[in-house]
Amino acid sequence: MNNTHVEVGIAPQTPESQTVNMENVTCPICFKSFSNLVLLNTHLDNDHGFNDSIDDSSPTVSKQQATSQEKKRNIANTKSKNIKVLAKVNKIKTGHWKAYTSGSKCHDCGHILKSKSEARNCRKCGNLFSKWHCRNVIRLNLKADYDPENGKWYNCCQGCYIMRPGYNDFGSRVDLTETFCKIRYSKSDDRELRRLQLENRLVVLINGIIILYNKYHDSILGPVKLDYNITTLERSTVPWRDDSTVSNCNICHTKFTFLLRKHHCRLCGSIVCDKIETCCSNELLIRFLQAVTSDLNYTQSVPEDPEFDKGIRICSNCLDMIYVPRKFKKDISALPTAIISKYYSLQNLSVVINQVLPKFEDLLSKIEITRELNNVPDITDVRELGKHREKLLRAFKAYNILTKQVVTTRTTNISEKRIQESIKIISSDFINEKILPMKNLPTILNSGSSSNESSTNNSFMDTGTPEVKKLSDLMSDLTIKEIKEYREELMVFKEQSFMLQSMIKDSKKQRHFDEVQVLSNNLKDIKKRVDDIQNKLGEQGFD
Ligand SMILES: [Zn+2]
Ligand SMILES: [Zn+2]
Ligand SMILES: [Zn+2]
Ligand SMILES: [Zn+2]
Ligand SMILES: [Zn+2]
Repeated sequence: MNNTHVEVGIAPQTPESQTVNMENVTCPICFKSFSNLVLLNTHLDNDHGFNDSIDDSSPTVSKQQATSQEKKRNIANTKSKNIKVLAKVNKIKTGHWKAYTSGSKCHDCGHILKSKSEARNCRKCGNLFSKWHCRNVIRLNLKADYDPENGKWYNCCQGCYIMRPGYNDFGSRVDLTETFCKIRYSKSDDRELRRLQLENRLVVLINGIIILYNKYHDSILGPVKLDYNITTLERSTVPWRDDSTVSNCNICHTKFTFLLRKHHCRLCGSIVCDKIETCCSNELLIRFLQAVTSDLNYTQSVPEDPEFDKGIRICSNCLDMIYVPRKFKKDISALPTAIISKYYSLQNLSVVINQVLPKFEDLLSKIEITRELNNVPDITDVRELGKHREKLLRAFKAYNILTKQVVTTRTTNISEKRIQESIKIISSDFINEKILPMKNLPTILNSGSSSNESSTNNSFMDTGTPEVKKLSDLMSDLTIKEIKEYREELMVFKEQSFMLQSMIKDSKKQRHFDEVQVLSNNLKDIKKRVDDIQNKLGEQGFD
């Protein structure tokens, strides 16, 4: 089992590996546990290749190493000697080892191996390495094949170490999700329990105080009796912490002074300050508390009497526990603002347009091609095209109207203003990208239907509501912003074309005909752009 861990490159945290007891030692290589050093030495010799049965045949055994082997051998017991004899017989193959010659280089880093004693053969691949680059240990059988189950431990190079079956460089993976979830849930269970506890105390206090108020507030000495009884109720609801043991606020840790007084939270009993800057505690009106927690089971309701001004001191921790989840629930259940709900509609429309548009374009080009070949288009195609067109026209129209509504909606705060700006940008991009290129659509359809009236009469093309028949109807529905921008562009181009015209006149007078040529070309370009913009603007343009 331990060996399996080594195979994935992770040191197992078994109790054995942590022990320092010399009577119970652990192999530093495979983490097997042994009852004494002698057994460990035997194990090192036999299983990890420190045995001279391997190193004898190795060209790398130094004098020093040999001495330490000697020592180990001396303290090893007879049993291990027997195994050694066996091991000598069963040597790992060495036939594939590269021989050392002067000038041999480390197969890994390329350094020249100055002497034979510096070199070591990888027991797996047989190449020569410096000792530093042949320090990994791996289980091999006598044929120098990987054998993680029954092989013995031999030195190998980094390459062979990585190539062994089951190697990974990220260690073993231990799935702790379940443990984590358990801890998480128990934590949130604790929190939930705490919240229920606090809410329960709040209900007891509020009900109790209202009952006491109704009982005493009209009687003689009422206010005194009332306050006394409320204090008794409060102290019986939650044990108060002893004042004398506490010298700092439980929340902000400020030291209490003569001026900074101690207060008890009526829900958790802890001692806190009432600094205005930190709001560690506040006396909150029962009227307010009950309204905020109206979902709790109160048996008493706040007295009508406007003089009822009783409050409960609550620390900020307890307030958070009770108030924050309720505020959150309220926030997410609140209806979206006008702008947001319009944005949702815009989103839905853009989904519709994005879905229908490609289908429409495909059908259109199919029908166009059929007509160019002077064939009669399929009647179902034409009908389908009419349906898509209808859907698109309606969606375009609605999109334009909604965009205009969003742009003109009065915003109530800065974040809404930002949302509005973003929607403006998104929708005007969408209009530019999807809707404006469709501007010439009606001409294509109309000319098509008139030239081929026998097969496609207008009733197929204009099956929709009477308000939206042509795209040009809604092109006048460009957003105000767009119209403004297009008009400004138009002005600039018109000015330019006017200037060019006068320059051409001058050049003609001065007989600079090459200049006239260039200028006229420029003028042509600009006139084309003016036409484009005027097309986009439709009846919103001007001459
Ligand atoms: Zn070992
Ligand atoms: Zn090297
Ligand atoms: Zn190797
Ligand atoms: Zn404080
Ligand atoms: Zn508290």
